[in-house]
Amino acid sequence: MHHFQYRNGALFAEEIGISGLAKTYGTPLYIYSAATFRRHFKAFDSAFDGLDHLTCFSVKANSNLSVLKMLAKEGAGMDIVSGGELYRALKAGVDPRKIVYSGVGKRASEIREALAAGILMFNVESVAELARINEVAGNKGVTAQVSFRINPDVDPKTHPYISTGMAKNKFGLDIESSLAAYKMAAELENVDPVGMDCHIGSQLTTLEPFLEALDKLLEFYEKLKGLGIGIKYLDLGGGLGIPYDEEEPPHPSEFGAALSARLKDMPLTVILEPGRVIAGNAGILVTEVIYTKSNPAKNFLIVDAAMNDLIRPSLYDSFHRIGEVEEHHRPARAFDVVGPICESGDFLARDRELPAVEQGERLAVFSAGAYGFTMSSNYNTRPRACELIVDGDKVIVARKRETYEDIVANEL
Ligand SMILES: *Cc1c(COP(=O)(O)O)cnc(C)c1O
Repeated sequence: MHHFQYRNGALFAEEIGISGLAKTYGTPLYIYSAATFRRHFKAFDSAFDGLDHLTCFSVKANSNLSVLKMLAKEGAGMDIVSGGELYRALKAGVDPRKIVYSGVGKRASEIREALAAGILMFNVESVAELARINEVAGNKGVTAQVSFRINPDVDPKTHPYISTGMAKNKFGLDIESSLAAYKMAAELENVDPVGMDCHIGSQLTTLEPFLEALDKLLEFYEKLKGLGIGIKYLDLGGGLGIPYDEEEPPHPSEFGAALSARLKDMPLTVILEPGRVIAGNAGILVTEVIYTKSNPAKNFLIVDAAMNDLIRPSLYDSFHRIGEVEEHHRPARAFDVVGPICESGDFLARDRELPAVEQGERLAVFSAGAYGFTMSSNYNTRPRACELIVDGDKVIVARKRETYEDIVANEL
């Protein structure tokens, strides 16, 4: 983690000390490193330089407008899953011709908005959705470019909640049904089946499931060609994992090389939808210890960040590395790091060896840049955290801390 480093025992984001930021902006506080975002995007995107390709950042991983704007400037397209994410992407200045729209439940109004914006393509997840897109496009007098999201029935070997490409999952169409769907799309007036898509899961730590899915898609591609249905885009989704703890996921360059070897002579534009691998290790969550307490079973650090700020440990039993913001070199003990929320599931870490930090000191929760703030809520009427971007020696307030007034603003 290049840009979150200790200098003489104090944690920095690029050129700026975290303690000072926490004092100025309060906690809980999300801090993103601009240099890390740019480096991750470039490393990923350039891994596919051998192929005609488009890298569409998965907006749901981190949808802050300043983050999207920064990535758009690097040339990123966006993968969206709602009308709200379309709104954000357009507001951030993303070229609509670089936007792909995924998700199992696109409403007519959202389809209309996406057609009005002129997005590149819909990743269609059911025949009913295809009919709806055809109808909405017809009413607008336009043709919608579509891909079908094919569920290749591959086990990504990740957490069940983030596995999406197995037969039991709600996503996409099984390969058998896909054939009929493409035939139907080819006959409809207002849709043009130009692509194939899959997204098999998140936090994958090996390449095999990706390659297995790719092989199934390529086999299907030949079948479609035989039917006279010419495919121009192959979207392989997102899902590449990151090191949270001891995982050793493949580097994007290995992913790129493996895909390039299989696809290099094919007349296809490859689309990729990375989220976590770009954003995850580009952000931390800073929190302050409110109290410490012990009982015969446990030592607790009660901190001011909770499951409403970062739900991954509660929801997926995820591991996030935690470190002191200022190192004190005290002996380590096992702690449960818990938030103030009235749920036993409200924890950031359990039975974690940490130096004996004291009340008023701060901790950094690492790898919090993806599915951190975007999954946050106001549970227990807790204002959502402030988000900062550090760029060299500059600080950008990417989102102000919410106030109580913000929380009740829409209530009568
Ligand atoms: C969530 C999602 C992604 C991004 O997944 P990561 O694991 O963050 O790379 C890409 N495509 C689709 C359709 C998604 O739902």
